Amino acid sequence: MNLILFGPPGAGKGTQADLIAEPRGWPKLSTGDMLRAAVAAQTEIGKKAQKVMDRGELVPDEVVVGIISDRIDDPDCKAGFILDGFPRTIPQAEALDQMVAVKDLTLDVVIEIQVEDHVLIERIEKRATESDQVRADDNVETLKNRLSVYREQTAPLLPYYEKQGKLKAVDGMRDIEGVAAQIGDILNHI
Ligand code: AMP
Repeated sequence: MNLILFGPPGAGKGTQADLIAEPRGWPKLSTGDMLRAAVAAQTEIGKKAQKVMDRGELVPDEVVVGIISDRIDDPDCKAGFILDGFPRTIPQAEALDQMVAVKDLTLDVVIEIQVEDHVLIERIEKRATESDQVRADDNVETLKNRLSVYREQTAPLLPYYEKQGKLKAVDGMRDIEGVAAQIGDILNHI
């Protein structure tokens, strides 16, 4: 099964993707993780992405589309994959639709993790204090910017996938196990 975990920064996409990935054996494809690896390795892509990421803005569509297109071709994606943090713009979603069509794959479901704004801000502030700057983009200002980037550029994907009949939502205000149980329920019914 191929699915997207969708939601704002702080919604818990990465945590939930890990929980799904482990028992089912579907790799988590996180563009954020891949870009951070590119930054750490100081590849050409990494050098270009670093400043944009530090500001909490989005790296160019063609960069992430290229990364995902290559990654999906890997043998470990054959049984299924979980997209975490991709797509984040309408052009990325359109490129993904084209990509799966060309590769003769299906995108089965988009699961939105819904969390109220005040909780996101609290989580974001907590993450910024706890992270000890492990992630350069984990400071309050940048994280708040990421939230407005989400609202402006990423949230429009909700009606996009709703129209395709692929959108399902879970209550992301519950604890980690509670959210995982709702996601498990959706996956069991597909
Ligand atoms: P994440 O770990 O998913 O929160 O991503 C961290 C940062 O990487 C984001 O704030 C963006 O700067 C960049 N990034 C990750 N995924 C994408 C994407 N699909 N499109 C554009 N930029 C991305």
